[in-house]
Amino acid sequence: MSSLNRIPVVSVPGDGIGPAIMTAVQRVLSQAQLPIEWHHHALGLQASPAEIEATLTAFQTHRVMLKGPTETPVATKGQKSFNVTCRKGHGLYINLRRSVSLHPIIPSSFPDQDVTVVRENEEGLYAAVEHRHTPDGVQAMSLKTISGMYRIIRAAFEYAVMMGKSRVCCFHKGNILKMTEGTFLAVFQQVAVDYPSIQSTAQIIDDGMAKVATAPHLYDVVVTENLFGDILSDITTQLAGSLGMGGSANIGARSAMFEAIHGTAPDLVPGGALNPGPLDMANPSGLLQAALLMALHIEPAWLPIVNLIQTAWAWTLEDGIHTADIARGGKNPTTTRVVGTLAFTDAMVDRLERLMSGESHALTHLSHLLLTVPPAISSDTWHRQRPYCPVSLPRRVVGLDVTIEWTGISSLQLVLERRGWSVDLSAFSLAQSVMEMAAWWHQKDASVTTAPPLPVPVLAFLYDQHRTCLLEMVAHVWHLLGLATPPGYVPVTLSSRGQLLVPTVLDPDLSDQLVVRFHLLDEGAASPEWGPLLSALAHAGFPVLGMQVLHVLDTVGAGFTDSYGDATPSSSHRFF
Ligand code: NAD
Repeated sequence: MSSLNRIPVVSVPGDGIGPAIMTAVQRVLSQAQLPIEWHHHALGLQASPAEIEATLTAFQTHRVMLKGPTETPVATKGQKSFNVTCRKGHGLYINLRRSVSLHPIIPSSFPDQDVTVVRENEEGLYAAVEHRHTPDGVQAMSLKTISGMYRIIRAAFEYAVMMGKSRVCCFHKGNILKMTEGTFLAVFQQVAVDYPSIQSTAQIIDDGMAKVATAPHLYDVVVTENLFGDILSDITTQLAGSLGMGGSANIGARSAMFEAIHGTAPDLVPGGALNPGPLDMANPSGLLQAALLMALHIEPAWLPIVNLIQTAWAWTLEDGIHTADIARGGKNPTTTRVVGTLAFTDAMVDRLERLMSGESHALTHLSHLLLTVPPAISSDTWHRQRPYCPVSLPRRVVGLDVTIEWTGISSLQLVLERRGWSVDLSAFSLAQSVMEMAAWWHQKDASVTTAPPLPVPVLAFLYDQHRTCLLEMVAHVWHLLGLATPPGYVPVTLSSRGQLLVPTVLDPDLSDQLVVRFHLLDEGAASPEWGPLLSALAHAGFPVLGMQVLHVLDTVGAGFTDSYGDATPSSSHRFF
């Protein structure tokens, strides 16, 4: 076939085992005579910035990519993940990861497992927006949108309909993360109404993960956010046999990228990722499954040839020709021959040749792997969205989070010095402290509105020596803060590491940074100017690191947007 009639596809071998499995898969696809024109590009550890740029441009042009795994250094420094860059840069918001049991060829306790994880692919913690606030405090932001939630959840239901599945389950953490995860659940419940024939359920992620690990056959489609989906799909793939078996599709309205679920498998790469040398240990099945999804995405009419490839693959497995990961060190009773990547590919190609020359072959155990419905993603059905208009919602400013640097005793000393109270906190003896403590307790109620030179050092001393009474100390600073707070604001929480510190017990090791949350009172609400509050804080000696204005979008019952408040949208609130 001339190149004019071939479909251009960007191919990226990647790192580690990537080049070996990519060669294997392209050999099989070429044997099947699929009219694909490969555009070979580079991504990964060894790719130069210019090569990476060229790859992303080629993807922009051709819109389809088959990608091997790429290594992302785990460190406080290093480049961003290429995967995340591709997914976000090209709007590939759906990540589909299906795992089907290959029992009895790969023995499984769950022979009926056929679960697809529909993972949101662009938002959440994978935005990788991170900051270092202080020497001790780092922060990652989980950025999510209702429109993003809406479209991934709709995609999950559409997938279920297309594949004839009857159950869609939402995994969420709405009990803890009321806004981000609670909203995900609320959107799920709203979208589910449009699919009355599908049984929709929801589970808290930890419970759901445990249930999937012990009863994956009870799930058809699970939709969840980015990080949860990443973890969950590794579990479901491993349950089905091996991480080396699973393919994955990253789909957007315009482009799609296909890859194996697994990574670069450094333990199978003797020379390391930068110098892999001859490689022959990896199972190419995961990338092959991804390539078949890709073929159907390009052209659903390729289903017969895709199923020939699938038959050749399953036939090889049924014949007991297995790579080491599924031979399981001699523990898989169906293995007849343990082979490397090359011999496994030879065996597939041999069977494919026979099938293409007219020989028929009926699969004994794995016929359920044949694709009956092309899971192709036509942009019309998958990316259909109802408009979402945030501007139509009332918006009301309710408060402010102020992050203050707090290094324990030294911060306290600084605050006091800035207030003009010259005390050397380290100079107090225990005996003196105990006496002063007693004196302070005696006059405690009266000390709220007056400058308190005595109790603070006592508390500081005890904190420093015993680290037991930080609550008292923070409560005391709270009073200092109260003195500095202009009318119209009230501090409602003081927290660090997400803890609500007042009025409950807190971590005695607290240090480094505090978030003081100010609620806006009626008098402040008339004119929510933050300047006076911030200058009052600065004047009191608190080093302000940052601030975030809090507002509610729905005045219909969501209440104060707070990590401990009822921030889950109420049933009377509609997003769409
Ligand atoms: P991994 O998936 O590479 O390996 C986990 C385990 O699965 C290893 O024991 C490995 O030997 C086995 N395994 C994986 N693929 C296999 C295959 N085809 N055949 C046989 N066994 C296979 O996960 P990891 O070790 O956590 O990650 C290594 C690197 O890969 C990291 O740099 C990570 O960032 C990267 N990674 C990339 C992608 C991607 O590009 N899509 C996905 C996951 C991880």
